[in-house]
Amino acid sequence: MIPFPKRKKLHGKLSDVPQDGSRCSNCDASCCKGFPTVRLSTEEYELLGSLGAKRLEYTLNGSFFLFIENGCEFLEGNRCGIYDHRPDICRRFSCDYEEA
Ligand code: SF4
Repeated sequence: MIPFPKRKKLHGKLSDVPQDGSRCSNCDASCCKGFPTVRLSTEEYELLGSLGAKRLEYTLNGSFFLFIENGCEFLEGNRCGIYDHRPDICRRFSCDYEEA
């Protein structure tokens, strides 16, 4: 019997304030690869578009998203290539995981 590959079970929480980023230095970009979307404000949608984002989407009810499933297009290795311009959710998100 072929064993299933181990997957990470992701958990996360949004804080009210931006995280200091210290955890990112040891991260393997689990959250930037493991979640389907990042919700954006209108301004963030326009900013990411000006930075060349190809995986932007908006809905008729006025929601804006960056699709990051299978890896955000702005990842450079395991680091954010637009760190100073990353969306608010990326700034406030704190990721944790366990091997499943
Ligand atoms: S914008 Fe940066 S921090 Fe946000 S998901 Fe993409 S690579 Fe990660």
